[in-house]
Amino acid sequence: MILITGAAGYIGSHVNKLMHENGYQTIVLDNLHNGHEEMVKWGKFVKCDLKDVKLLSHVFEKYDIEAVIHLAALASVKESVEFPQKYYKNNFQYTKNLLNVMEKFKVGKFIFSSTASVYGEPNFVPISEEHQLKPMNPYGESKLMVENLLSEKSKNSDFNYVIFRYFNVAGADSNSEIGEIHEIETHLIPKVLDVALGKSKRIAIFGDDYPTPDGTCIRDYIHVNDVASAHLKGLNFLENDKSDVFNLGIGRGFSVKEIIKSCEEVTNCYIPTVVEERREGDPAILICDNQKAYKTLKWKAELNNVYTMIESAYNFHRKL
Ligand code: UDP
Repeated sequence: MILITGAAGYIGSHVNKLMHENGYQTIVLDNLHNGHEEMVKWGKFVKCDLKDVKLLSHVFEKYDIEAVIHLAALASVKESVEFPQKYYKNNFQYTKNLLNVMEKFKVGKFIFSSTASVYGEPNFVPISEEHQLKPMNPYGESKLMVENLLSEKSKNSDFNYVIFRYFNVAGADSNSEIGEIHEIETHLIPKVLDVALGKSKRIAIFGDDYPTPDGTCIRDYIHVNDVASAHLKGLNFLENDKSDVFNLGIGRGFSVKEIIKSCEEVTNCYIPTVVEERREGDPAILICDNQKAYKTLKWKAELNNVYTMIESAYNFHRKL
């Protein structure tokens, strides 16, 4: 069985679904702080916080777990700048708990959701995995700490990992049964769609004085189902008893203004904007070099059209 942490969340629910479509049985763990139980439509759900080592051990005792996909984390750059300790504890300390329990039960296959935030302000784009790691915010820092721990842990041991550095994950499953829901939404695309759906009045553009063609930040948006499919490839890769790190992105960047314009096209709505201060911890440009995942894992982003990504997110959001 495959254990997925954070499977009631946005990315986790898509990974969980794909695992089932491919014949895997899953145990899904979530503390439901940010996740939603109705997003767990497959597998055996256990409400569990990773600080609860006793319950975690019980899960490993009860089920025959062969690999762990660890997606449970706090993931807001803004919140991490305000509460760095919270990020250190949740993202690093609790991952350590999970790894300790895995070691105790001799489970040695681990897929970890990391982030492009580990790179910080890039020296070059597209960013390859060899780029220096210099996070600009505690969120990226907490993920890098886990990456370093994994690399240490795999030396001279039976423990192997795949690290995926996600760029900006977007979109929703094509039949709209799962998608992105956050109590407090911070991500650009769902926030813009909320304006189109009349849930808020305008979108704030965080800075239009960046060194980019239109002055707004450029990001590489990747469809959540492409991220999910990489995890399937990751499980296959772990069969070789090797460890490695891969970027997940489409290899093209879109500015905040371009995303807003695409949202206008998809929704057929005018989206009012207001320019605000830069958000602390935001690099100007993040674009992914995804060649390593392509060459090594034979993984490719299939749903790499931003318009259709936004359309799938819109179809989900308008149903809520
Ligand atoms: N952004 C923005 N207004 C918002 C939310 C986000 O201008 O209300 C910008 C943000 O500064 C960044 C980009 O949109 O440049 C993507 O931000 P998001 O929070 O979606 O993802 P992140 O890049 O932080 O992972």
